Amino acid sequence: MKILVLNAGSSSQKSCLYDITDSAHFGSSPPQPLWESLVDWNRRQGIAEVKITTARGTVLERELSTQTRSAVMAQVLDTLWQEKTRVIDDLSEIDVVGHRVVHGGQQYCKSVIVTAEVKKAIADLASFAPLHNPINLEGIEAIEQALGDIPQVAVFDTAFHSQLPLAAAVYPGPYAWFEQGIRRYGFHGISHQYCARRAAQLMGRPFEDLRLIVCHLGNGCSLSAIRDGHSVDTTMGFTPLEGLMMGTRSGSIDPGISIYLLRQEGYTADRLERVLNQESGLKGISGLSADMRQIATGAAAGNTRAQLALDVFIHRLRSAMGAMLASLDRLDALVFTAGIGENSPSIRAAACEAFQCLGLQLDPIENERHPVDVDIAAPESAVRIFTIHTQEDWAIAQDCWHLINSQI
Ligand code: AMP
Repeated sequence: MKILVLNAGSSSQKSCLYDITDSAHFGSSPPQPLWESLVDWNRRQGIAEVKITTARGTVLERELSTQTRSAVMAQVLDTLWQEKTRVIDDLSEIDVVGHRVVHGGQQYCKSVIVTAEVKKAIADLASFAPLHNPINLEGIEAIEQALGDIPQVAVFDTAFHSQLPLAAAVYPGPYAWFEQGIRRYGFHGISHQYCARRAAQLMGRPFEDLRLIVCHLGNGCSLSAIRDGHSVDTTMGFTPLEGLMMGTRSGSIDPGISIYLLRQEGYTADRLERVLNQESGLKGISGLSADMRQIATGAAAGNTRAQLALDVFIHRLRSAMGAMLASLDRLDALVFTAGIGENSPSIRAAACEAFQCLGLQLDPIENERHPVDVDIAAPESAVRIFTIHTQEDWAIAQDCWHLINSQI
């Protein structure tokens, strides 16, 4: 089955083509896609930068003057069969298209085939996820234009958290908030679920039997506590702004600060949104960068604000890990993933150090080795510790395969 996966964001769009012949693919390491494309809209005004990579190693880079998303999409899809980057003979060979959709609200607790009703729900949920759902819908419509009525699957980033217990989901405001959908949804669910399942696979144990904490630490950061095969607590909430400190997002702050800024400092809602989403976090505190590599380099060179940004990041990470632990009465494995989680031994070491008192112990040599999809805990550690390369696109492809096969 040839599965095209679209992961559309505001500034970039990643697409991959997988070929899954049977379920044996799911038992081993994730396969390489046949073809991958990355479209970057934001680096230069009016230009979409396109990079195509195939499993044969062919790389094609192109610049397209920015048109509509569907016009760019059509040109990107043409590279699937064009001579230099050909991986299929004709677009009709694609069996199904899977989309990452950020917000599925309370209705969608698993992936679904896209229908007119699903499209309407994604559009309606744009009021909860204005930066993401409209773009996800544009991706679905661009595929309709390019490939006609091919089956499309929506895979929701909120779905894995849809069974949060009420105590973790309800905000302690007026109950009417909850009735109108103001509750904790959680995000990065595709990544949390993939990494937790992969850890179970690496441990050779049933996923449903494990108690896990997954630390997704990238530009966006969130943790999840997982038991009985689903998320029972997570750090992001109503929006992806809650929880950990991130590259440019503040994470949780006293809501009184927002009231103060609106009332005393004359902030508008738009300015507040911009400050909390784009001018806070590592970038806001350091004044240097949102990139953890530059923060670490700056701190090592004696930049005190970079050091402070790093200290706040670690403090908040550790305290949120403690909060996740509180929803599990045992911990079998701790998983680090995404850009920082996979690549920064020092952040992993700092995070784990706080839990040494509970018997959690890294193997310092394995931790430094930059391994991926391996256990980096010391043999005597009471908890296994993994770095796992998150593969959201592969997780979306698997969901498509299962959903289409369940319908045959
Ligand atoms: P992501 O959103 O998953 O692409 O992750 C992006 C984040 O990962 C950025 O903050 C990068 O600075 C960080 N990152 C990538 N490589 C490293 C590294 N070797 N050490 C520390 N942080 C890294």
